[in-house]
Amino acid sequence: MKHSLTRKGGVRPLLSELVINWHITEACNYRCRYCYAHWTGNNRELVHNVPGTMQMLENLWQYFHPQNVANPLRQAMDWKGIRLNLAGGEPLLYAEHVHRILTDARRIGFNTSLITNGSLFSLELAQQLAPNLSMLGFSLDSGISTTNRQIGRQSRHGQLLAIEHLQEGISAARRRNPELQIKINTVVNASNCHEDLSDVILKLAPQRWKVLRMLPIVTNQLMVSDAAFQEFVVRHQALGDLMCIEDNTEMVESYVMIDPLGRFFQNALGQSRYRYSRPIPEVGAAQAFATVGMDPAKFCARYLGALEKVAA
Ligand code: SF4
Repeated sequence: MKHSLTRKGGVRPLLSELVINWHITEACNYRCRYCYAHWTGNNRELVHNVPGTMQMLENLWQYFHPQNVANPLRQAMDWKGIRLNLAGGEPLLYAEHVHRILTDARRIGFNTSLITNGSLFSLELAQQLAPNLSMLGFSLDSGISTTNRQIGRQSRHGQLLAIEHLQEGISAARRRNPELQIKINTVVNASNCHEDLSDVILKLAPQRWKVLRMLPIVTNQLMVSDAAFQEFVVRHQALGDLMCIEDNTEMVESYVMIDPLGRFFQNALGQSRYRYSRPIPEVGAAQAFATVGMDPAKFCARYLGALEKVAA
């Protein structure tokens, strides 16, 4: 773990980048039963508001910029850069907005990444988006059609994601940007916990495979037991160099997260709802962040572990 020196001679963990996750929309073409992408509030999602989006990006940059010593997180850790990660819902329902936000964020100085369910990813989008991304992530829980249907990973018309389609998209994105890191996110849940995903993961050859335990915040559907989750991890031990494992305790209060209305939010075990700040474009990032907080120790542990895996 890298460290930096404080003015008083102490040490702080030094991250290569601080990651801010913006869930740009709640809308999705899939209906996963465990989905936690549900937020309160009926206002229009910020992604459709071009000046509001720009203002939020600038607010975030000013507040989380690595040189801003006024950021209270700096008492616990340092970071060299900021990565804006776009997630959903399914962000590629608004592919043009995604392209615009990624372009603006890069111009401001952010590193950028995107997480998608892959169903709308095309060769054209690979061409358009890959140059503006340092990481491209796909959520994938199974290579088996019946499991995907049980989970709800299908469109309204019953269309499923084909692994070959994903492979083609990933290859095109890698050709366009050879520096691009590919990540697969798998939520281990009651439907897929007995499966072996090794072949699928090896086919897609990501730099990182994030294995998350289904988190019972918004719903308990498809919850998985401790034993079944551990068995899944052990079954895939041969892929240990790629795997980043997140059990539920590592997943709470360890992310910087923004909802579709531009509010910071935070999850907490034992609470059935998220906590929210006021919208960032209204009150600024400092005031909004102060009301939700985050656990810097958990954040550092998760990101340092993950980044070491990518670097390996
Ligand atoms: S793909 Fe993601 S956002 Fe869409 S329903 Fe599934 S978990 Fe929710």
